[in-house]
Amino acid sequence: MKRIYLLLLVALVATGCNRSDVAFEEGATEATEAVTEKPCAEEKTEGAMPETESVEKPIVEEKTTEIVVVKEETIITEEISAVENPPVETPLIETPAVETPEVENPAVEQNAESSVYGKVIVIDAGHGKNSDKGKEPVAPGSDELKAKFATGTQGANQTEAELNLAIALWLEKELKARGAIVHMTRTTAETTLSNVGRAEFANNLNADISVKIHADGLDNPSVHGASILVPGDKYITDSELVAESRRAGEIIISEYVKATGARDRGVSVRNDMTGFNWSRVPVVLLEMGFMTNPEEDARMENEEYRQLMVNGIVRGLEVYFAN
Ligand SMILES: [Zn+2]
Repeated sequence: MKRIYLLLLVALVATGCNRSDVAFEEGATEATEAVTEKPCAEEKTEGAMPETESVEKPIVEEKTTEIVVVKEETIITEEISAVENPPVETPLIETPAVETPEVENPAVEQNAESSVYGKVIVIDAGHGKNSDKGKEPVAPGSDELKAKFATGTQGANQTEAELNLAIALWLEKELKARGAIVHMTRTTAETTLSNVGRAEFANNLNADISVKIHADGLDNPSVHGASILVPGDKYITDSELVAESRRAGEIIISEYVKATGARDRGVSVRNDMTGFNWSRVPVVLLEMGFMTNPEEDARMENEEYRQLMVNGIVRGLEVYFAN
């Protein structure tokens, strides 16, 4: 009677799963609970990560050995005692299987890895329709007035305002995908924000940076290339703001021309920009290329080239925020 009982018990243990084995392989405390309900093989498949696959076989083999052993009375006791001590083996857990959930969500991991993650970025698509012909001070306290809304340049098939918006919206998508907190000064052809308004918009958000998206134009159609404008210190007293804007400008133009192959026209320090002088956060203005140059204008209509333009700006921001 006692022998039959023992046999039954061992048979159960053998066909089920050795608890200690499972706890060892899974390396997670949760695994131990699950094992008591399910056969070993199933549990493995469900909870296993790719790396665990190679470890599966030894367990199946061990099980076979146990089953064979069941028939020998002398070893039965040993088998049982071995089974009764599972907690002792638990500390052996070394496999960091606990990390599995993170691997299952690569998108989140990628976001967290980007230096723009969590950064407040204002994207200012330059220009936009507004019938207001009024003027506003070029800087706080200044008597010099400039137009609240300027029209911008023009290409063969698109206005600067249209191109700026297309790139700005694309940029918004790419930055949000990397976890940045993006705010747009406009998302339609119309705008309500004047140049001062755009600066105040970024100030009120206490943005980490404001990136103004523009394109260039000149009477001479042979001129082409990209440049970046940064604020000077004529009106801005915050030297850190000036220095950070300059640093961002240098990085972004460098990454932009690297990505697009556009001619590098460098960094230009400007004291006459209303949008800069009212800013209390780092700010840059990218001139993506010349719409008055037929070749560059045509390139900036092309979707593949636009992707490169956006890549360059994103990369520039990533490098800027990484340091
Ligand atoms: Zn412009």
